[in-house]
Amino acid sequence: MTKTNEFGWNFDNSYTNLPETFYSNTNPTPVRSPEMVKFNESLAKSLGLNVDALQSEEAVKTFSGNEIPAGASPIAQAYAGHQFGHFNMLGDGRAILIGEHITPNGERLDIQLKGPGRTPYSRGGDGRAALGPMLREYIISEAMYALGIPTTRSLAVVSTGQPVIRETNLPGAILTRVAASHIRVGTFQYAAKWGTVEDSRALADYAITRHYPDIADHEDKYLSFLKAVINQQAKLISQWQLVGFIHGVMNTDNMTISGETIDYGPCAFMDIYDPETVFSSIDVQGRYAYGNQPGIGGWNLSRFAESLLDLLHDNDEEAVKIAQDAISEYPALAKGYWLEGMRGKLGIFNAEEQDENLVHDLLSVMKQYKADYTNTFRALTREAHEESVLQGTTEFNDWYKRWQERLARQEQSKEAVLELMRKNNPSVIPRNHRVEEALEAAQQEDYSVMDNLLEALANPYNYTSVQEEYCKLPDSSGLPYRTYCGT
Ligand code: AMP
Ligand code: MG
Repeated sequence: MTKTNEFGWNFDNSYTNLPETFYSNTNPTPVRSPEMVKFNESLAKSLGLNVDALQSEEAVKTFSGNEIPAGASPIAQAYAGHQFGHFNMLGDGRAILIGEHITPNGERLDIQLKGPGRTPYSRGGDGRAALGPMLREYIISEAMYALGIPTTRSLAVVSTGQPVIRETNLPGAILTRVAASHIRVGTFQYAAKWGTVEDSRALADYAITRHYPDIADHEDKYLSFLKAVINQQAKLISQWQLVGFIHGVMNTDNMTISGETIDYGPCAFMDIYDPETVFSSIDVQGRYAYGNQPGIGGWNLSRFAESLLDLLHDNDEEAVKIAQDAISEYPALAKGYWLEGMRGKLGIFNAEEQDENLVHDLLSVMKQYKADYTNTFRALTREAHEESVLQGTTEFNDWYKRWQERLARQEQSKEAVLELMRKNNPSVIPRNHRVEEALEAAQQEDYSVMDNLLEALANPYNYTSVQEEYCKLPDSSGLPYRTYCGT
């Protein structure tokens, strides 16, 4: 296959220096008539790519996997994972890593096609993806990025001109995903279960070099590595909680070592505040409900720690103790990040012991009155209490008085308080009914609805009429919103 560097790609393939057990050389399966349906110009620019060339017919060949760009060396990555608590061998069954693009400022980013055809890890699957779920990943990942939450990003979606067969025939598509890497907790589980200690060490050294170079010369570098991942995930999941994001499928194969959000399947944002909120149709037990996410993060990190035991100490008992000590720090870390974020949402600059109660009491009033999560904080930020269902209730009035007293105990001006709140309270999130509306229009080849939505989501902390339009709640249909994995 081919070709030149006219698109600005600057590929390297460091992952293929790892032992062969970690990947399989795999080319995408060409598709019939690929067409670009969505291209992320600003992301392309920030990657140092040639924006014009990438919108040409030639570029579509790359984004569809019909051609391999010069310098790329496509692979499917091996990994395992606990899916809803059950351990399985997995791997890239419908994704192929084209290569690592090195940006002009030296950043190394994975360029991955999602939906490019079968790989050695596809098991019974077709290795393909449907248009709706790929556009959904595009919208939500870009919204997360704009919210300031670490995430993989979406560079392009092409339609393939071929149907994918699910319950019905759906239009096929391929998403180009950009990630700090695709190394997962499940990649380490795979190494621990089926590789040698040297394989695990090679993977850990690779991940450290790539994501945590500062700890490379630590004496206990694998313990530092474990702690660094724990810290990143504590931070990430707290950020999800603060904006009401529900990942939906927090299996260990969907948890990155870099600390980026990955694998936007049945994820969705919560409207009415309720810790038990679940959107995914397959999560019947509510394992990955909103309120369970921090705890599940801890469970997944324990699986990660287990997979590092051989690297932590030669003596098994010592290794377990070291791992447990590191994991025991997670709950306080996660709570600390969350509380810090909540203080920001309430305009609080310094820490007082009773802040946590103040936050919990607001949340319990929100739950009691079925208040919308985002709009409650939005109304507080805009001092537009008439917009909140809490307005006029005794419980809210009491809480409001305590909040005002709390604010009065800090020295910052009211303007500074409101500014802090605006920075921490998005005025717009990708609401489910808006995402669905955009996807429905896109199925009819009308991309204007999605473009308008993306424009509003690009500046979620702005409080202008652009965002205002997207704050409205859906007309109540009485049916709970359901999301599907889209595999
Ligand atoms: P996910 O639900 O996207 O996290 O995927 C879980 C596992 O199923 C991964 O190993 C995927 O590669 C695999 N998988 C999902 N969809 C397909 C498909 N259509 N064909 C082959 N493998 C798939
Ligand atoms: Mg996955």
